[in-house]
Amino acid sequence: MDRDNEIERRLKSANLRTTEGRTRVLDHIKRIGQPLSVPELHEFVGVQVPLSSLYRIVSDLVDAAVLRKLEFAEGFARYELDEDLAEHHHHLVCTACGSVVDLALDAIEARLHQTVDDIAATTGFRARTHRLDFFGTCASCATAVAATTAT
Ligand SMILES: [Zn+2]
Ligand SMILES: [Zn+2]
Repeated sequence: MDRDNEIERRLKSANLRTTEGRTRVLDHIKRIGQPLSVPELHEFVGVQVPLSSLYRIVSDLVDAAVLRKLEFAEGFARYELDEDLAEHHHHLVCTACGSVVDLALDAIEARLHQTVDDIAATTGFRARTHRLDFFGTCASCATAVAATTAT
């Protein structure tokens, strides 16, 4: 698969061997399709990879441009595949339970690109990429809040 070849190429050029720990981290991140914190990754990868090694693995993978680090003002970082290894997307961040879900916004990407052109025309700033994340309550947290206020 193309993406896997590209991941392998980036690991090689960063002089990172394919280790059990790295493979498990990447497999999980590819499968789960949402940005994960290191403790969340640890739950999956298991005790054979100590938390300290996991932080190291993740930071090496960021340096190799395989993962990208995201911060949502939660006080810790989350990690997902680097943007050009994944589909371009945005995030829905629940500030009540802390869940973060990926969201593609195909309907407005064309308008965003037009906006990027307008920004370049008016300010000279050339945006290479953009981030647009939404903060609020997820469906189950919204339901819980509604139930509490109803009584
Ligand atoms: Zn929630
Ligand atoms: Zn976008």
